Amino acid sequence: MDNISYYLGVDIGTTSTKAVLYKDKGTVISMHHVEYPLYSPTPSVAEQDPDEIFRAVVETIKVAISKGEIDSKKIKLVSFSSAMHSIIAMSGENKPLTRCITWADSRATAWAETIKNDLNGLAIYRRTGTPVHPMSPLCKITWMRHDKPELFNQTSKFIGIKEYVFYKLFGKYVIDYSIASATGMFNLEQLAWDAEALEVAGISRDKLAEPVPTTYYLTGLKQPFATELGLPAETPFIVGASDGVLSNLGVNAIDPGVVAVTIGTSGAIRTVTDRPVTDPKGRIFCYALTENHWVVGGPVNNGGMTFRWVRDQLASSEVETAKRLGIDPYEVLTKIASRVAPGADGLIFHPYLAGERAPLWNAHARGSFFGLGLHHKKEHMIRAVLEGVILNLYSVLLALQEIIGVPTKIQATGGFARSELWRQMMADIFNQEVVVPESFESSCLGAVVLGMYALGEIEDFSIMSELVGSTHTHQPIESNVEIYNDLTPIYIRVSRVLENEYGPITSFQEKWIK
Ligand code: ADP
Repeated sequence: MDNISYYLGVDIGTTSTKAVLYKDKGTVISMHHVEYPLYSPTPSVAEQDPDEIFRAVVETIKVAISKGEIDSKKIKLVSFSSAMHSIIAMSGENKPLTRCITWADSRATAWAETIKNDLNGLAIYRRTGTPVHPMSPLCKITWMRHDKPELFNQTSKFIGIKEYVFYKLFGKYVIDYSIASATGMFNLEQLAWDAEALEVAGISRDKLAEPVPTTYYLTGLKQPFATELGLPAETPFIVGASDGVLSNLGVNAIDPGVVAVTIGTSGAIRTVTDRPVTDPKGRIFCYALTENHWVVGGPVNNGGMTFRWVRDQLASSEVETAKRLGIDPYEVLTKIASRVAPGADGLIFHPYLAGERAPLWNAHARGSFFGLGLHHKKEHMIRAVLEGVILNLYSVLLALQEIIGVPTKIQATGGFARSELWRQMMADIFNQEVVVPESFESSCLGAVVLGMYALGEIEDFSIMSELVGSTHTHQPIESNVEIYNDLTPIYIRVSRVLENEYGPITSFQEKWIK
């Protein structure tokens, strides 16, 4: 008989749910993922079917266990990560009245403006840590209250996707402090629902789930699911936290001064503090990991999607060449960009193609090239786009630095980290050492380690440094740093100058684009 223990981490994401089975010390045994659609009948709607997601959760757990070919009685815990900001309206009979309205749904845009401008939005943000934005459940419930009163009046509970999954498995509505801290309605100091936010949303506390620590766990899995999953009903299911904060843990960016920067399709920059902190100017979020670990930072819409836009809209001949040679088009494009000097000979790109969250929090923001001259070629534009993505994240870091000080180390993850040029650009623009951790399904790993902490198997998170290695390290190159020091202030000033023109240009686009 071996004494190996197993741990299962589950991450309920926006495109799929993943389950990863680990054995002691974080070795991956098996994993499985199941995708589901995002329903977007009009551009502002971004919904998912809660039951499709629930079935995906059950399926991923079941298949990950069976692929692992282990004795499932040895699974010590199942621990959860999930996407933030989702809302499902539930009836008195505990049936969904809506689909799961995801973070990407923008129907609450007008109400977010009203809360921000007329309903004390900044003060609510400073207590709740969630910037006032259409993504937040506060704005979505307020929108439902005013624009869909019948639905609002029928609703007996407003819950997120993880609460839905736990309700189905255990018959109890619980929301972890982490997901709660991303609703815009949770008072971070009191660890309780915020009275003023609930007043704006027009709901009482009993319309929301009961907030519990992220280390809280339930046992007594309903029998049909225990049978289907092949798990003892007494297996602890740790409620866990959000994908964002768990990914900080999963890439070992939890020590003071360590900043995690992720650039995938979108991007984010995050660091951990030991108490809740917010920004007097409302630019950064503060979400809970545990009562003693708070993740502060900013999400950006425009990460790698801007590079994808270059690939798809500006570089068809390069893409063809890449295909012919059997190499990744992004590699061809980064190679072309590397022929141009840092600073793209004075060409600046503001990457706000998809509007922007941090640092502008302006859904009407749009992209621009600034400084174009006859000397600029396509390769300058490609390089400027790559630099613009990093400069944008750097401007978020500057806001963060006002609150947490200068970082000691940058941990960089996401698709952008495949490019050496892009990684070095980050080291040069940030003027910091950039390390790429060996990250693999970091939110699942974070969930499992949080679960071990919840059950008292570990006393702190120091185990992470054993679990997470590193792949690449980049030091800033002095001569490049000097160039970016001159360019960055221009980038920031121009984006401020343009701020008043974003509204008019999007109105123009809405009026004239047929
Ligand atoms: P997601 O956020 O959807 O999980 P990824 O983390 O895989 O996505 O990141 C996708 C982005 O990574 C792409 O849009 C692209 O900008 C960037 N990317 C992918 N491969 C490369 C590469 N070889 N070189 C540079 N950038 C890349």
